[in-house]
Amino acid sequence: MARIVQKYGGTSVGDTDRIKNVARRIKEMQAGGHELVVVVSARSGVTNELLARAKAVCEFPSERELDMLLATGEQETIALTAMALQGIGVPAVSYTGAQAGIFTDKVHTKAKIKTINAKPIEKDLKAGKVVIVAGFQGINEEGQITTLGRGGSDLTAIALAAALKADKCEIYTDVDGVYTADPRVVKDARMLPELSYDEMLELASSGSKVMQTRSVEFAKKYGVIFEVRSSFNHNPGTIVKEEVAYMEKVIVRGVAVDKDQAKIIVSNIPDKPGSAAKVFRALSDSNINVDMIVQNVGRQGVANLTFTVPQTETARAVKALEPVLAAIGGGPVTVHEYIAKLSVVGVGMKTHSGVAATLFQALADADINIELISTSEIKISIVVDQGRADEAARVAHTAFQLDKA
Ligand code: ASP
Ligand code: MG
Repeated sequence: MARIVQKYGGTSVGDTDRIKNVARRIKEMQAGGHELVVVVSARSGVTNELLARAKAVCEFPSERELDMLLATGEQETIALTAMALQGIGVPAVSYTGAQAGIFTDKVHTKAKIKTINAKPIEKDLKAGKVVIVAGFQGINEEGQITTLGRGGSDLTAIALAAALKADKCEIYTDVDGVYTADPRVVKDARMLPELSYDEMLELASSGSKVMQTRSVEFAKKYGVIFEVRSSFNHNPGTIVKEEVAYMEKVIVRGVAVDKDQAKIIVSNIPDKPGSAAKVFRALSDSNINVDMIVQNVGRQGVANLTFTVPQTETARAVKALEPVLAAIGGGPVTVHEYIAKLSVVGVGMKTHSGVAATLFQALADADINIELISTSEIKISIVVDQGRADEAARVAHTAFQLDKA
């Protein structure tokens, strides 16, 4: 008998037929005598719809009320999933995040999980019930409902797998697993049977939206091995786990494209100690996530700072910079939204050289211009014109022979 945590994403529980499909899958699994905890997301589209409604009644809704509202999406699907199970003779019980003992910090809309009291779930598992838990939500020490950031159901599943010492954690989604590139863009992309936490993290933060980044960080920290697989077939998916030596034989594991970034150029700031510090302090004080940064030193003692931020944060970033530029001098600030970030990722980069040269040559041969470059131990990211991004992904995929097993 194994203890298994499963998570079904929004498309897997997108309507009542799909919820019944999930219930049948759970029943099959339970027939094997396993203990099952199942985390579900809201129906796909529901969280966005709720957000739109919030905006329709109030321009700047408070984050407490947003959490109150958004948590209802998952509350619908837990109840329906439990009912669907009961309807086919499987004892099941639904839990909100609070009922599941998921305690978070106070930060509404992006709370962090602090502790999990697994006792109530353990009790129902012992009683032979399938426990269905609302993803994406928790409760803080003041008894307020919190949510864990977009895509947070993944985090709920990974955290519960750690807290319950599950034997297996399965993340069910609408794709078969993690691919070498987006198969809709790169026709000969292959599904990866396994990859390391670090590769998954870099891919997730580079635009491959299979899983929430924070959930992968959590899995790495607590050593939760998980499998990403489809709820629409029974094929094995991608196993994500700690790096093992043979993984380094492959230099590049995958290519990811992120079209949701924007490039901001702050021109003519004084080229002296403290300028960059003031610019990025202002951005960080406004909770803006900066990704790539490049500084060009110009003439006459001024420099240009170029960096990328999520497109949704450009307006706030520009606003945050106004007082800084007023104080230190410089400008203008220009925003370029029609860009894309392409990343190649692989733990093999640690021990192989020439990866950047191969990538840049392949792009040069395709006449694709590189606007920014940044690297980490296992990743090279570049910014290109958004209109050339898909082509760049295909070019990189071929250059690293990712089409070949
Ligand atoms: N329903 C939430 C969202 O759309 C959480 C999740 O689906 O993981 O972000
Ligand atoms: Mg998701």
